[in-house]
Amino acid sequence: MNNKIKNEKILKRSKKDVPNDRRLRKSWYIIMNLYPNIYLNCVEEITIELLKKNNIKALILDVDNTLIDYYKNLPEEKVKWAKDLQGQGMKMYILSNTNKKEKVEKVANELEVEYKLFAKKPLKGGFLKVQKILNIKSENIAVVGDQIFTDVIGGNRCNMFTILVDPVCSKDFWHTVWKRPLEKYIKKKLVKGELNVF
Ligand SMILES: [Mg+2]
Repeated sequence: MNNKIKNEKILKRSKKDVPNDRRLRKSWYIIMNLYPNIYLNCVEEITIELLKKNNIKALILDVDNTLIDYYKNLPEEKVKWAKDLQGQGMKMYILSNTNKKEKVEKVANELEVEYKLFAKKPLKGGFLKVQKILNIKSENIAVVGDQIFTDVIGGNRCNMFTILVDPVCSKDFWHTVWKRPLEKYIKKKLVKGELNVF
């Protein structure tokens, strides 16, 4: 595993970056929703130090290709990572777009966390329901997932901290395959630190 953090720079959506032009401003907000706050190789790189530094008290976790691969394998390191963070007071909740209960329940049981299925990410509803259950402010919640068009956009729209990780394996479901080229393009920009989209 490559331990190098791909984008150590935390993206700040500061007010001074907002374009003055009204038309550009609208596009800026839409485009900034595509960018995670941080981009890492895998969940194991999410340390308690990183989370504390960013005032994160809870994680909303994706399942498919974030924790498990296409063949539903949950690597031992990911379980250990989750347990370690929980042991240090980090709350966790699984939010998945799938409707396959058995698959998600198995992961949730291993990690000893609650879960919600059929979340319809990037719609805000699922995230906000979990936030209500956790009873934690949105800015203190990090959304962790492998997809820009579901996890990152959804989390950003809810004003949560977003952490993008690379997929566990390269095999994807049919409904994900078509989104990967644009994701690759955005990731390349992130790694290079090219955050100015205009
Ligand atoms: Mg996923």
